[in-house]
Amino acid sequence: MEKICVAVRVRPPTPESSSSENGSSLWKVEDNRISLHKSLDTPISTASYAFDHVFDERSTNACVYELLTKDIIHAAVEGFNGTAFAYGQTSSGKTFTMTGSETDPGIIRRSVRDVFDRIQMISDREFLIRVSYMEIYNEEINDLLAVENQRLQIHEHLERGVFVAGLKEEIVSDAEQILKLLDSGEVNRHFGETNMNVHSSRSHTIFRMVIESRGKENSSTDAIRVSVLNLVDLAGSERIAKTGAGGVRLTEGKYINKSLMILGNVINKLSESSKLRAHIPYRDSKLTRILQPALGGNAKTCIICTIAPEEHHIEESKGTLQFASRAKRITNCAQINEILTDAALLKRQKLEIEELRMKLQGSHAEVLEQEILKLSNQMLKYELECERLKTQLEEERGKQKEQEQCIKEQQLKIENLNNLVTNSDYKKNQSEDFINLRRTQDGRCNVNDSSGFPGTPCFESAEPSFVVARSKYSELSDFSPMVDSLGDVADEDTWTKLNKGFVPDLDQLQFTPAIKRQPTPLIAATTECSRENQKVVDDLKSQIELLTSEKDSLQVKFSEQVVLNNKLMGEISELKEGTLHMKEIPKLLSESVANCKDVYKDVIVTMKTLMAEKESPTAKLLFGVTGISTSLLSTLESQFSMIMDGQKAGSIVDYPLYDQWETLRVSLKNTATSLLLDAQAKDEILNSHDKGQETGVMEEKLKSELSIVKERYNELEKELCLDKLLLKASRESHERLEKEVQFLKEERDSLDVAVSQSTQRLRVIASDKENALKDLNVEVKRRKEMEEEIKQISFAFSSRQKSLMSFHNEIKSKMQKLTTQNPKLK
Ligand code: ADP
Ligand code: MG
Repeated sequence: MEKICVAVRVRPPTPESSSSENGSSLWKVEDNRISLHKSLDTPISTASYAFDHVFDERSTNACVYELLTKDIIHAAVEGFNGTAFAYGQTSSGKTFTMTGSETDPGIIRRSVRDVFDRIQMISDREFLIRVSYMEIYNEEINDLLAVENQRLQIHEHLERGVFVAGLKEEIVSDAEQILKLLDSGEVNRHFGETNMNVHSSRSHTIFRMVIESRGKENSSTDAIRVSVLNLVDLAGSERIAKTGAGGVRLTEGKYINKSLMILGNVINKLSESSKLRAHIPYRDSKLTRILQPALGGNAKTCIICTIAPEEHHIEESKGTLQFASRAKRITNCAQINEILTDAALLKRQKLEIEELRMKLQGSHAEVLEQEILKLSNQMLKYELECERLKTQLEEERGKQKEQEQCIKEQQLKIENLNNLVTNSDYKKNQSEDFINLRRTQDGRCNVNDSSGFPGTPCFESAEPSFVVARSKYSELSDFSPMVDSLGDVADEDTWTKLNKGFVPDLDQLQFTPAIKRQPTPLIAATTECSRENQKVVDDLKSQIELLTSEKDSLQVKFSEQVVLNNKLMGEISELKEGTLHMKEIPKLLSESVANCKDVYKDVIVTMKTLMAEKESPTAKLLFGVTGISTSLLSTLESQFSMIMDGQKAGSIVDYPLYDQWETLRVSLKNTATSLLLDAQAKDEILNSHDKGQETGVMEEKLKSELSIVKERYNELEKELCLDKLLLKASRESHERLEKEVQFLKEERDSLDVAVSQSTQRLRVIASDKENALKDLNVEVKRRKEMEEEIKQISFAFSSRQKSLMSFHNEIKSKMQKLTTQNPKLK
């Protein structure tokens, strides 16, 4: 897609206006911007426009050509359609830009010379150039190269696109020839007009070059490129009110305004975004219909908008600039136009099929079953169609052979008769002419010597072959004329008509040449083509089989993957449950630690009350234990709260905690032992001294308390052991879970990647398939056309046979006459 190239050119002021106005221009040009200034040189912000190029009053046609049109002309030689047109009010310089002057030739003359210069530089291709020149005046198309061709009609053909029927096209061999034709066209343009300027400002002229080329080598398998170059000088875009026209001028004005208005509408529609765009009214005027490929179609296009600098033209100039601004938004899609011969078409198709096959084999994505089914159905239909065509072709071939045989016999008879008939000079050549005439085309192209390519540079040696060969791919006439209407069948003209039809091929214009236009194949080529196509069908069939097996294996893989996925999902949910359970553990542990802390406090308080002497080693030990245990319990508490807050749980395994725990255990053991020893010592003292009833009661109480403390201590120890075990188990399960979660994450990521890759590949395959389907459709269409052409040929043959028969009968009757006149001949 590329934007239309839009430029603005300001004409120098006329001598009268420069003397009447103060001489300084209202339009200021800076680089590619043009703005309107008030007389005191202050710019008007709303009237400033930027374009691809802006040419000021001093610019020359050479400069305009170089910057604006040269690339389009060169692209046209390469095979792209090209259009350049000038738009603006009357007297703003359109004709000056397109046609130019003696000293500064315009775009048309420069393009013509440049095309031939360019051709000289391309040594590996041979060219055939045709030109036509037409005018649209009051919505009527007139041929400027043939005055008799007036009011020509526009036709549309499925393959050839829009074309002007009956327009004369001259085959040209050099630039000078075209320039002469242009001059003669100019004369015709003014035919019947007294006021040339009035006429010229009210008609659109279209000069057109059709450039055909073909590679010199591999000419049979290379495509023929056909590009159309339109150089258009439009009528003045001013309003009728301003010209004050009436009567005939008013009618003209209406037509001009209508076609220019429709051009404006088309440009408006095209400049809207493609979503908003509805119907583009190309068909509403002849101008837009002819320029259709140049506007939003298959062509490289440039528009030069000319403006007059005078103050009284400001409104018109603004209108022109607005038109230019809208045109700037149009995008075209130009591509090289090629006509494919059978061989070239088959070569291309083979390559395309090969490419598709490679793509299909290279991909391992899941293939959509429906798509494949669709493709297989299409293939089946295609195959059936092929079979049908094949049998039809066989039949046709048989018929043709019979006909050929019959023709040969007839020719033999004719030759024999010719020897007998005295006035037989031209008839001697009939059989040779017949064959030649089948291959040559006449045409309104004025090719006096139809075997030649008169003098177009670089292909002198190949001229006859290209013209003859090219004509093979041209359109056949719809049908051969009926014998009855031919009169004297032995007449040379009649022979020409019989063999070539009455619509010549080379002299028809192609406004939008088909990108891949079907040539008219000869029967032999068609049979060959059919065989090739059968091969292609076989190839495609094997591809489908390959694809189906690939699809099956992919489906098996897919179901395996689904099973694996389900398994993984089960594991993930189990792990999730485990994680939830694990989350509960720190909470339980923390509760149990708090419990421990309470019990422990009680034990310590009780033990402290039991301490008789504060300075005894047991008391010291107990104090040490209290310190360690307090710090241990607080460490544990903080650990659990951290775990519960979701912080890193690794600190559970911190070694200081275990150290503290060990120290506490040992210290508690020591304290308990020393307490027991103390109690035993006290027992002994009490026994030996026997201090009475009161002491006994006290002793009993102390003993029971001690046993309680012992029990509690044991409980505490057990609980701590349990906690330790729980901690260890929880640490292990946590680690395991973490690992599993990590593994699952990796697994999930890789699955994600695989899924996205598969989706991508699926998309590629789907688009490939779409393309393949399109190709198939094209192929089917081509087959149908071939069938049609075969029918036409058989029809032509039958009519030829009839004519031969009548000719034969005539000769026979002549012979009889001769024998009756001259009995000696018997
Ligand atoms: P249009 O075709 O738009 O009606 P013309 O090309 O006939 O206008 O130009 C009107 C007049 O202005 C002609 O006499 C032409 O020679 C002159 N003119 C136009 N453009 C230029 C230019 N760039 N330089 C010199 N003269 C010009
Ligand atoms: Mg003009």
